[in-house]
Amino acid sequence: MFENSVKAYEEAKEVIPGGVDSPVRAFKSVGGTPPFIDRGEGAYIVDIDGNKYLDFVQSWGPLIFGHCDSDIEEAVINTCKKGLSFGAPTLLETQLAEEIVDMYDNIDKVRFVSSGTEAVMSAIRLARGVTGKNDIVKFEGCYHGHSDSLLVQAGSGMATFGAPSSPGVPADLTKHTLLCEYNNIENLKKCFEDSNDISCIIIEPIAGNMGLVPASPEFLKTCRELCDANNALLIFDEVMTGFRASLKGASGILDVQADIITFGKVIGAGMPVGAFASSQKIMGELSPDGAIYQAGTLSGNPVAMAAGLVSLKKLKANPAMYEELNKKAVKLINGLKEVASKNNIGLQVDTRGSMFGFFFADKMPKNFAEVTDFCDFEKFGKFHHEMIKKGFYFACSQYEAGFISTVITDEDIDACINAADEIMKNL
Ligand SMILES: *Cc1c(COP(=O)(O)O)cnc(C)c1O
Repeated sequence: MFENSVKAYEEAKEVIPGGVDSPVRAFKSVGGTPPFIDRGEGAYIVDIDGNKYLDFVQSWGPLIFGHCDSDIEEAVINTCKKGLSFGAPTLLETQLAEEIVDMYDNIDKVRFVSSGTEAVMSAIRLARGVTGKNDIVKFEGCYHGHSDSLLVQAGSGMATFGAPSSPGVPADLTKHTLLCEYNNIENLKKCFEDSNDISCIIIEPIAGNMGLVPASPEFLKTCRELCDANNALLIFDEVMTGFRASLKGASGILDVQADIITFGKVIGAGMPVGAFASSQKIMGELSPDGAIYQAGTLSGNPVAMAAGLVSLKKLKANPAMYEELNKKAVKLINGLKEVASKNNIGLQVDTRGSMFGFFFADKMPKNFAEVTDFCDFEKFGKFHHEMIKKGFYFACSQYEAGFISTVITDEDIDACINAADEIMKNL
């Protein structure tokens, strides 16, 4: 039933490292062959063997309207016909920037880039340039893209100084990255006691890259206070949560506000787009107005802008959509929890807007170490594999969040819960 994908995977591995262009796609943590996708159809994807799956991954978040939304498709095609790229200003960039600025009180200006990685990298340079300081505080389990200084893990010995988590990253490039535990206020305070060179805290305020693990309100408040007291900037990495957790992202449902926000995923609707945004004062330091350099040949690409613009306009026109998306997310995870407990399996679940997460565990993890320590990865792997066989495509790692799109129906969700019930009987 996966014959063509098995063959395609072997062929891909001949010419592409691991057969994939981003490691998670290789299914390493769950085993098996990743289905090669032929096409999307609304809430579904279809692989090259003709298997059809209900898609809870949605290209890792961007596709809040599902696949092949006709409005987005039309905008992209019409824009394509006028040329793919100019490396010169277009109206579409201003229009998309206006949509984003309009939605956030603390944002005056936006700069577009081509990926979330690039957005975060640029936001950190901006924070360092504005404050004139070097260190950055990052939390274990938060993912901010693959740039050198963010590929860190806890070093042996000294707790806070990050060690490279990948060969190829010189320790000299991570020595300014101070690694703290998520949701650990004491740890964070200590970090600020140890360094007087902190330029910024970067955080996923609702973490979606260690499974769904929201920061506690007190923890975020402490982040804000420590930044204010130490002339550091607070960066919310909303590449995943932006226009996902709510219409105003995580910022829209939290009491604490950031100084700089990064975006990606939904603002490109499936095209390669990232952005970072801040106040007039901070963004004024960016070149060509200011001295902090940042650039990109394809930044603000018109086709990508057109896709994002239609998407955000549609979301804005119907803000009640987020309640419906969340209702579906809650229906799904409550259903999964119910069938899990019926089968004597501990399942921890949570949602934020159109995002959902579940852990095979008896209590809810609140940081990366707890996810690693007490969540059952073997069970997850089996569950994932069996669900794929039944036509339900969940993210292939317990470290990933799941997503609801507007085209997923209650019937889809019921079918998913029934399939999970069957599988959990033998888990
Ligand atoms: C996906 C993601 C990134 C990286 O974005 P890319 O487009 O993959 O470079 C950064 N931060 C967060 C929170 C993300 O979820």
